[in-house]
Formats: sequence, C-alpha cells, structure tokens
Amino acid sequence: MPSVPPDDAPALHVEKLDVTYGRALSALRSVSLDVPHGAVVALLGANGAGKTTLLRAVSGTLRLHRGAITAGGVRYGDTALDGRDPVAAVRAGVVQVPEGRRVFAGLTVDENLRAGGLGLAIGRALMAAPRLLLLDEPSLGLAPMMVGRIAEVVREINAGGTAVLLVEQNAGMALSLAERAHVLEVGEVRLSGDAAELARTDAVRRLYLGETADGAGGLDGRGAA
Ligand code: ATP
Repeated sequence: MPSVPPDDAPALHVEKLDVTYGRALSALRSVSLDVPHGAVVALLGANGAGKTTLLRAVSGTLRLHRGAITAGGVRYGDTALDGRDPVAAVRAGVVQVPEGRRVFAGLTVDENLRAGGLGLAIGRALMAAPRLLLLDEPSLGLAPMMVGRIAEVVREINAGGTAVLLVEQNAGMALSLAERAHVLEVGEVRLSGDAAELARTDAVRRLYLGETADGAGGLDGRGAA
C-alpha cells in the first residue's frame, strides 16, 4: 500500500506526450498537464478527443489496447510510468476506474447504479488506497440527480486526500469539482487553466451545451488561454 507523500511531493506530470495506436493512428500529440498532490483536475473534450487514451497512458493500460507512448513521458512523483505496466502505476498509487458504461456490460448505467455496480467499481479502486484516482466519465448517461450524487462521491474521495483526474463530457459537473481543467481537441490540449475561469469562456460553454459535438467550429482559441 503506498505511503502518504509529503505535501510538497510532485504528483502526476505528463510531458509532451505522443500516443499512437497500432503504430499508425496518432491519438495524442504533445500533451502536457500536471495533477498536483490532492487536487481535482478535469479533462474535457468531445468524443474521440483522446481523454481515455490519456488515462490509459497514465494507468499503464495502453498496451492492452495496442497503444504505445511514442514520445514524451508520464511521471508520478519519482516513478516514470511508460504506459505499458499497470502494476507499476498501482504501486505508485495511481488507480483507474473504467468508464461508467463498462462496469457491468449488458446493463445500462442506471441499472448499474441500482445494482451497486458503479459504487462497487469505485470502491474496488479505493481499496488500493490510491494517491491519484483516474475517473473516466462517471456521469455518462446518468439522470441529473445521479450526476449530483457522483459529484458528491468525488468530493468525498478528494476530501480524504486522494487527487482526482476526472474525464468528463459533462463540463458543468467537472468544472464545479475541479481547480484546474484542460480541454482536449483531436489529440491536442487546446485550452488549459483555472476551472472557474474556463467555465466562463464562450468556448467551454459551447462545449458544455454540446455545440461542438459535430466538430463544427471547435475550440478556435477564443476564451481563456
Ligand atoms: P470518448 O469520449 O468517445 O470515450 P475519448 O476522448 O476518450 O472519446 P479516446 O477513446 O481516447 O477518446 O480515442 C482517441 C482516438 O483514438 C480516437 O480516434 C479513437 O478512435 C482512437 N482509439 C481509441 N482506442 C483505440 C484502439 N484500441 N485502437 C485504435 N484506435 C483507438
């Protein structure tokens, strides 16, 4: 079980990361971001932007999906994570909860929640006493009341000292929880900044409203840098 690091310990550091699937499909290009110790950081973006790929690179599960880091790197504290070794990531204190809809295949998310599936998946992850929890779209497909409950759970987890890297398409929920946020668009970080400031930008409000879902317009640099 990982020991508790000092407050000033470096946490997750992703540096100019390139990830490719099957040697051909470039899924991430020069992606850099940090998750400070004990922080909540949101990662937003449309379908296919590369959010799950980034979590896989951090949790060491890329190889299971025929993906590989081709440039740059991931560190958690003093540990270099190479995207290939989930055990190394867990030993370093980094644990991933898979996307909500994949907890129990064959059940809807609502059915999963009723069956306790989502709570069980998060509970299992917490048994590893993570320093950093990677949460992949926990609100996917949920009714608004359930989204609120998920937000409470994330707050509780974070209040216990666990940092969270939160992948969400529900930007409103994610930005209300996070201190900082990054917006991925087609494999690249297009916006980064203070979560409250990003929530006020036109570009993120359009994303929250789903107006970039068809790819029209996208994040064209308006709003926060
Ligand atoms: P979503 O919200 O739909 O989950 P995402 O932002 O998490 O999207 P990724 O799943 O990381 O995006 O996908 C990024 C890109 O990599 C997409 O073009 C996707 O088709 C591709 N991709 C993802 N997994 C694989 C894989 N195992 N093999 C080949 N390509 C993949």
